[in-house]
Amino acid sequence: MYHSPSPPIGGEAIAARQRAGAARIEQADEDPFVRILVVEDDKDLNRQLVRAISDAGYAVDTAHDGEEGYFLGDTEPYDVVVLDIGLPKMDGLSILEQWRRSSRNMPVIILTARDRWSDKVAGMDAGADDYLAKPFHMEELLARIRAQVRRASGHAKAEIECGPLRLDTKSARVTCDGQQIKLTSHEYRLLAYLMHHRGRVVSRTELVEHLYEQDFDRDSNTIEVFIGRLRKKIPVDVIETVRGLGYRLAEAPPANAT
Ligand code: CA
Repeated sequence: MYHSPSPPIGGEAIAARQRAGAARIEQADEDPFVRILVVEDDKDLNRQLVRAISDAGYAVDTAHDGEEGYFLGDTEPYDVVVLDIGLPKMDGLSILEQWRRSSRNMPVIILTARDRWSDKVAGMDAGADDYLAKPFHMEELLARIRAQVRRASGHAKAEIECGPLRLDTKSARVTCDGQQIKLTSHEYRLLAYLMHHRGRVVSRTELVEHLYEQDFDRDSNTIEVFIGRLRKKIPVDVIETVRGLGYRLAEAPPANAT
């Protein structure tokens, strides 16, 4: 029998509860420059997964069958993949094996049917980093995603400092000389990514690929617009344009406004 303190997923009332849970978790541990792929053919579950994961502050892409999921994971740079095993067109284990064979090494959490213990073994053998048996609690999946993100980033720190700029990834707050700077979520993600990779040139393509969902307007002009807004909001001149290559956040920007 399945015993747990709160009911497993399924049903709208429960979904609402999970959204509340996801929102609570978001405040505690938001990691905005992480992009996640969900491959799940069950429409309701897929929708619940996407909602909970995006509520937790991540960028999410989704696929409803094996071929689409395989293609996305093979061509896009995801930080974590949530992969169902039983999928139409191409099963999860084959997808995982093919990704690993072509050196796609992103962390993969597989979703297995509760009574199919053999799927867990086969999944781990195929290169899965973790698994969850259905039915599961959204909070548990989010915790496992956070664990994979932490492991992958290794040195991950809650606060990133860059001269007078300070970014707190837990509260999603940015300050400059102690003064809070109000940013939209897209501006925040962009600045967080640049600060995380400060000192090196980051191309527009890299920014678009890591920061935004697949159906986001991928025109690189969008990035220029966001960079322009960031420059207006940040009182120090920290974002350098490297002609033809992209942008670089200075390692040690000037302390005074320019
Ligand atoms: Ca399935």
